[in-house]
Amino acid sequence: MTSAIYIHIPFCKTHCPYCDFAVWVISHPRHANTIEAYIDSLCLEIKDRSHGEYIQTIYFGGGTPSILSSDQLSRIMQTLKENFQVSHQAEITLETNPGTVDLEKLKSIRQLGFNRLSIGVQTFDSELLQKLARGHNKEDALKTLSWAKEAGFENISLDLIFGLPGQSMSSWEDTIDQALSEQIQHISCYALTIEEGTPFHKMYSNSNHTHTNSAKNSVIPSEEITVQMYEKLQVKLLEKGFEQYEVSNFAKTGFQSKHNLTYWRNEEFYGYGVSAHEFIKGERKSHNRNLEEYIQNPHSQIVLDCNPALEELMLKLRTNEGLNLIEYQKKFDINLLTQKEKQIKQFQEAELIILSENNLKLTSKGFILSTYLIGELAV
Ligand code: SF4
Repeated sequence: MTSAIYIHIPFCKTHCPYCDFAVWVISHPRHANTIEAYIDSLCLEIKDRSHGEYIQTIYFGGGTPSILSSDQLSRIMQTLKENFQVSHQAEITLETNPGTVDLEKLKSIRQLGFNRLSIGVQTFDSELLQKLARGHNKEDALKTLSWAKEAGFENISLDLIFGLPGQSMSSWEDTIDQALSEQIQHISCYALTIEEGTPFHKMYSNSNHTHTNSAKNSVIPSEEITVQMYEKLQVKLLEKGFEQYEVSNFAKTGFQSKHNLTYWRNEEFYGYGVSAHEFIKGERKSHNRNLEEYIQNPHSQIVLDCNPALEELMLKLRTNEGLNLIEYQKKFDINLLTQKEKQIKQFQEAELIILSENNLKLTSKGFILSTYLIGELAV
């Protein structure tokens, strides 16, 4: 039964040079018509593809959903409430970027029923923020956080990135310390990946980590330093009472993202909007990435080729809940204990995985090597 909904809002104030998401920059009043047309199509899609299910999590992601006005967010929320039974306890998240909201807007967002904010801070180092062309600085991020609390949000997550060009270990530690001093409940952290086709790829791809751009301090930290940054994060967050419940996610007790756990538990969810993915009745589908085509025909989806056994393994091993090997065998007729006996033994001895009562999970040391370990355990 589907109880989670993802809503994709593809608009941003600027296009960050490292981002390869399907994003449209809203910089001119004429774009207002595009946004309105997009919301019309989005609401039509929601209306036509809903079956009145009982919904426990809704996540507005992007893009920058907080770029929408309160009235536009309200229209989408209203459509969701008219077409689904949204639980009174539902976790309803809005991705928000500093510089797109003020106190009044956050108060009205809270009144619309959003009860969780995921704030794209990335770093508290203003010089690095400028290189990332995020359009905000440290003060903007701190103001957004303070307004969010004043507006009544009691479930706030920060997005941070490490391994940035020119980022030193001390700058990274300052960012973690600042985040921890802000009394927030959740932190998502990702290492920067240089994606093909992005401006960062041109600037940094064949540089062997030491590109020749004249900008000072623009060297990308080595893999060794990036791993040390991740370890530093794990240690500091653990000390302050955060639990690492997924490779890139840390939460205070009771504040794990219910919505994202749906993905990692390999449960069903609706995805609405351009480029949005969804998982319903064993099928993964995606909308295409063309905004105009989506506005013309919001119902068109592509069924994705997938390997369900591999996906379940990859998703569940990302979390500290791990993978139940008995259930996995029942579902996919794969006995990992016999098929991967050598690797499981080797990783246990290296304290990278724990096998207990037929449940396999990565240790915090294992989370660092998750991509490699999951690859080795896949059948
Ligand atoms: S704000 Fe986020 S989604 Fe928008 S361009 Fe930057 S990284 Fe991409």
